[in-house]
Amino acid sequence: SSTMAKSKFEYVRNFETDDTCLRNCYIVVRLDGRNFHKFAEQHNFTKPNDNRALGLMTRSACSVMEELEDIIIAYGQSDEFSFVFKRTSNWFKRRASKFMTHVASQFSSSYVFYWKEFFGEQPLLYPPGFDGRVVLYPSNRNLRDYLSWRQADCHINNLYNTVFWTLVQRGGLTPAQAQERLKGTFAADKNEILFSEFDINYNNESLLHRKGTALIWEKQDETVTKRMKLPNEEEKDVQVTRSRKKVQAYHCDIIGDQFWEEHPDILED
Ligand code: ATP
Ligand code: ATP
Ligand code: MG
Ligand code: MG
Ligand code: MG
Ligand code: MG
Repeated sequence: SSTMAKSKFEYVRNFETDDTCLRNCYIVVRLDGRNFHKFAEQHNFTKPNDNRALGLMTRSACSVMEELEDIIIAYGQSDEFSFVFKRTSNWFKRRASKFMTHVASQFSSSYVFYWKEFFGEQPLLYPPGFDGRVVLYPSNRNLRDYLSWRQADCHINNLYNTVFWTLVQRGGLTPAQAQERLKGTFAADKNEILFSEFDINYNNESLLHRKGTALIWEKQDETVTKRMKLPNEEEKDVQVTRSRKKVQAYHCDIIGDQFWEEHPDILED
């Protein structure tokens, strides 16, 4: 019978390996766009920062937070986004491959689904992809250091890209000349080039570009009008206020203590 045939074949399931994430750890999934250097060129991204692309990344990350379970914070910059699951999550029995693939596919399909909302007339020329990885962090300090590391990366890259493209777009240098000019320079040198040659104070550049995007859940009071039936069969509009969780975006420093003190519910103890 087919039932017997099925049991005959079923042993192959035992070839699946256990990828349960260690208990008590924060589960972080980081996605990164595949070959986005080329993707950015082919889709005419503004240099150094295309706000349509950043908006689409953030929209896609919101979809991941809303559709999947147990995400407490997400942080994104450039073509990457990190998603942090609460340490007590038991979603899919903590199987790493389930977390990674659900995040990557929900994000990728959202990126395509919402493309037009952000890029309008610019057509999507081919299906983009994102790689994913899972990393476990056992302490709040480790998790905060992870997020600090990504934000520091955002800062370093954005400072470099800002000077590089200013030298090219306003200084008339070729990309090769700009690269040569910046070889071996420190952050202070880059700030100085921007300030003395182009009258740009890097600290006044947009927070979105300098700090990236942190997404967290926030309670919001929502007032809706409900039609209520009165006992005497009459209908009446009544204002009902309830508190709902909504994803909120922040473009601020997450390295120091202030952000975490202002949002003490994000991290569990
Ligand atoms: P890999 O597949 O190894 O990740 P990659 O080409 O995606 O290769 P990354 O190091 O991930 O390399 O860099 C992403 C690149 O995508 C940036 O260097 C930049 O050129 C481009 N990019 C991503 N987001 C934006 C944006 N919002 N505005 C402009 N350019 C962007
Ligand atoms: P999970 O998220 O756990 O995978 P699921 O609802 O996707 O839940 P599956 O066991 O994967 O459960 O089953 C997929 C279901 O999708 C099928 O049971 C069927 O109802 C539906 N389905 C998938 N493909 C088709 C198809 N080509 N035609 C009709 N129904 C389909
Ligand atoms: Mg990569
Ligand atoms: Mg990439
Ligand atoms: Mg990247
Ligand atoms: Mg299914």
